[in-house]
Amino acid sequence: MVTLEEEQGHYNLKDICNDFNKKYGHIEGVFDILKHFMYLWEEEYWELLFMVHKNWKNPLHVCDDHEYGVSQINDITRIKNFPESLVLMQVINNGITPGKQSNEYSADYNAFRNLHIFLEKIQSLYLDRDLVEDDLWALHKSDVVERVLGVLDQFDVFKGSIVLKDDFFYYLQAVSWGQEVKSFFIDFNNLFSSFLFENQGPHETNFNLELNNVLVLLSHSCAVGDNSPQIHTEHVIKAYKTFFKIITTDITLLVDKKYYTGQLVCEECREVYSLLEDEAPYDFSQCSCGGDLKYINIPSTSNEK
Ligand SMILES: [Zn+2]
Repeated sequence: MVTLEEEQGHYNLKDICNDFNKKYGHIEGVFDILKHFMYLWEEEYWELLFMVHKNWKNPLHVCDDHEYGVSQINDITRIKNFPESLVLMQVINNGITPGKQSNEYSADYNAFRNLHIFLEKIQSLYLDRDLVEDDLWALHKSDVVERVLGVLDQFDVFKGSIVLKDDFFYYLQAVSWGQEVKSFFIDFNNLFSSFLFENQGPHETNFNLELNNVLVLLSHSCAVGDNSPQIHTEHVIKAYKTFFKIITTDITLLVDKKYYTGQLVCEECREVYSLLEDEAPYDFSQCSCGGDLKYINIPSTSNEK
């Protein structure tokens, strides 16, 4: 039985979809993005990702230490060495600093930070557990962020190394939105968020804002990669393609495994395994005795790498 309220909700959603199609259906690539969005919906990617977001606790994120309150001091003391992201340092060196005046559609510090957190959540999604310190090292000392921003929707297959030069950050800030493209971006985002969430609680709002910021940053990067001073609809389309690619990519395969310097301990027979340089704890399912393996971080070595 459908309540009146639900019926109203469905009706509105259909309306929003129709309006969107009428306005933008003719733009090349829009249909593919809608199809891909629905695929992620049917395969429950959105639902799982939102669960990760909702249960996200103290990720001990790079460069975030100043934001922790007294209650989290214990965790900070416990994990002394968190990884600095090379990209976040470059961002700051290029004048994109925390708290600098910006709006929600500019490639500001927050957008970069949100991309880092978003990647952590994807990592957590594929590991199917909370992150430990070495996961953060393996992720943030890898070149995943450079790949995503530099080669966009090809980031998973690109061979070779990517270095983002100061130029990249300069152009990123110089890129602007045309008024029509911005409306397209906003309408696209509204369409997806009204589809994803019936209710808009604080978790939904945060999640949406975070995704929005990541997409803003990706749209800017697409324009820069295209040597365009303006963001066009094709850049927004490519930003979405990249964004969906991130969600469907097992990012644990792209991290730098040499940062897993801890040991695996069998919970049954207590045998200890030391990992080799190209091994991660999730490469092993169980001990030879059949017992479950537990990964033990050895934080003191982390800063020597
Ligand atoms: Zn064992």
